[in-house]
Amino acid sequence: MMYSQTKTSAHRPQSSNVGKVWLVGAGPGDPDLLTVKALRVLQQADLILFDNLVSDEIRALFPKAVPAFYVGKRKDDHSIAQQDLNALLVKKAKQGLSIVRIKGGDPFVFGRGGEELMSLREAGIDAEVVPGITAASGCTTAAGIPLTHRGVSQGCTFVTAHGETELNLDWQALAHVGHTLVFYMGVSRAGIIAKNLIGNGLSASTPAAIIENGCRSNQRDIVGQLGELSHLVDTHQVQSPALIVVGDVVNLSARLRTLPELEILNQSCA
Ligand code: SAH
Repeated sequence: MMYSQTKTSAHRPQSSNVGKVWLVGAGPGDPDLLTVKALRVLQQADLILFDNLVSDEIRALFPKAVPAFYVGKRKDDHSIAQQDLNALLVKKAKQGLSIVRIKGGDPFVFGRGGEELMSLREAGIDAEVVPGITAASGCTTAAGIPLTHRGVSQGCTFVTAHGETELNLDWQALAHVGHTLVFYMGVSRAGIIAKNLIGNGLSASTPAAIIENGCRSNQRDIVGQLGELSHLVDTHQVQSPALIVVGDVVNLSARLRTLPELEILNQSCA
């Protein structure tokens, strides 16, 4: 089956009384990593709905006259249920508003952007996704860790360590894939991640990093080994948002990082 679609620009779309929803990726936190398109649609919005991962610096770029509401989901604290949010987007778009629904990173990477877009499509609402820099890309770059590197890693896998009920991952495949693994939402599951990877054959001495508040002024990079992941999380009291990177590319950070003012806590060398 073939689809043909006309690309829309970021110009304000509604000439009639039907609005539009923009599902916008804010990137990992640094406002300079916001796309030009994201900034343009923000400036043209009638209503902004934002997540907790949208940093203060990015919120400061919201036009002051535009109403902006928090609709985020912190662990165990959902300001609004997903179904209600979907319904709100439909309702406001039907009122003719241009709504920017802005989320951390990229809306389509562990961001429920697909679900929101599906519900808008089903309701016949005009909607468009503006991609953002996902945490795996932004945070590793800021930590001097290339996701792939010739001769070191030929690929990378993004994994969520958060499951609806339990983690349903093919640990054996992950342990044997031989390339970079990036775990989102993994801080509280660091021990489980390490146990499952090591239990399925990945060496406990595989380099691992935890990047907390990546691409923000308070970024912390904690570098060590897979076998000590849980210990590192506890010792350094790692807080969300944080990303876990496992693989030999982590070792490259010592030579590639360019931000000496950031705190480097290298447990293996201590
Ligand atoms: N859609 C987002 C991911 C949402 S899931 C994206 O594409 O980046 C939330 C998880 O993303 C967090 O638990 C954390 O693992 C990761 N994350 C997002 N922003 C981060 C940041 N600035 N620093 C470290 N991890 C981050």
